[in-house]
Amino acid sequence: MLEPHTPAYLETAPHVIVRGEGVRVWDSEGRSYFDGASSMLCVNLGYSEPRLIQAASEQLAKLPFYASYGHRTTDVALALAEDLAEISPLRMGRTFFANSGAEANDSAFKIAWYYHRSLGRPERVKIISQEQGYHGTTVATASATGISHIHQGFGLPLPYFLKVPCPDPLSPQAQGMTNDQFVDWLVAQLEDLIDDEGADTIAAFIAEPIIGAGGVIIPPPGYYHRVEEVLARHDILFIADEVITGFGRTGSMFATTEFDLTPDMITLAKGLSSAYIPISAVMLEKRVVDALVKGSAELDGFGHGFTYSGHPVGAAVARECLAILRERDIPGYVRTTAPMLADGLGAFRGAELVRDVRGHGFLGAITFDPAAAGTAAGELGTALMARSAEHGLLIRAIGDTIAFAPPLISSDAELKTMIDCFAAAYQDVLNGL
Ligand code: PLP
Repeated sequence: MLEPHTPAYLETAPHVIVRGEGVRVWDSEGRSYFDGASSMLCVNLGYSEPRLIQAASEQLAKLPFYASYGHRTTDVALALAEDLAEISPLRMGRTFFANSGAEANDSAFKIAWYYHRSLGRPERVKIISQEQGYHGTTVATASATGISHIHQGFGLPLPYFLKVPCPDPLSPQAQGMTNDQFVDWLVAQLEDLIDDEGADTIAAFIAEPIIGAGGVIIPPPGYYHRVEEVLARHDILFIADEVITGFGRTGSMFATTEFDLTPDMITLAKGLSSAYIPISAVMLEKRVVDALVKGSAELDGFGHGFTYSGHPVGAAVARECLAILRERDIPGYVRTTAPMLADGLGAFRGAELVRDVRGHGFLGAITFDPAAAGTAAGELGTALMARSAEHGLLIRAIGDTIAFAPPLISSDAELKTMIDCFAAAYQDVLNGL
């Protein structure tokens, strides 16, 4: 197997996970681990939700597959689109289904191009994104991703993919600035880029409400509202990438609602099915759909879609997942339980080697300072991740930042155990320096 995001030269055997239950997984050696990262920030309902398993098996027995193509679809795909329309923060037009976060974002770019083409401005093709933003690794989404090792070796990014600075309060640019000054600076960078490139060449801006894989970066308050003003003035579409933040992670069903944003499209994946089966979606604002309707009449078609768009088993699992999120008010549970996680992580504030502690909902991070430790960049993160596993906790290191994203069903006691495991790992690393 050519493992994703893994150096191909590694000769040691990979760590093999074979079983999961609740918020824990077991490896092939029989060792158990608390999953402090919901695998890839996606197994939001934990590993043994019987209703999701039942929804998948019932749909497999009834209709394992029929494609949504050429004006023929399935009852369950249509029903899922209705379910999403009911809870969407957008003035809903329609929902397009795909299979992964990258496919959803790739689709959103193509829809932005098609939208502008439909309105008679085919020259609007450029996509703006943020340094450190992560949107996937297909050719187009890797180009929008602002992380250099995702480009390296692949001849990416493609032309037309432009970047603005990351709204990271820890970045060198932000130092010595007040919050408002930093927001002014970020917005000026966006305005300058638009002026330099020409607004009439730009199709869309894509961003995560909270940057996840790029380091759990929480933009300064007010930033996105100012960005939205600029985008609206230049008629640039705003794509909110809620692949991580969607479905409760921040304590709301959508971060778009929580932060009072008004995007034109929202991309979703991961938590849509709690990762039990691949499915993703792009929710489209009405004005975008209206333009697509006009454009597809002129072009006599809409040449975009995947064999598995709206896969009935994925749709059935996603419908059940949404039902569980609503019936159990999982976003509300996250809101009320998040202070417990924040307090646990907050205990590391001011501790040796710790540069910053932050979080929102069930998404937290501790950034360590390699200069204080005298280690190379990323070494502390790798060591903390390895020691945490020894103490029975799986977490993700992003450079020297440790990301915490436990399943949204984690109890107080489970969160406390996860933090205790991490504290033991931290102590080991300190002792070993
Ligand atoms: N967008 C965001 C914000 C993500 O975090 C990810 C994956 O981590 C993606 C898009 C890509 O999703 P996928 O890996 O399903 O293609």
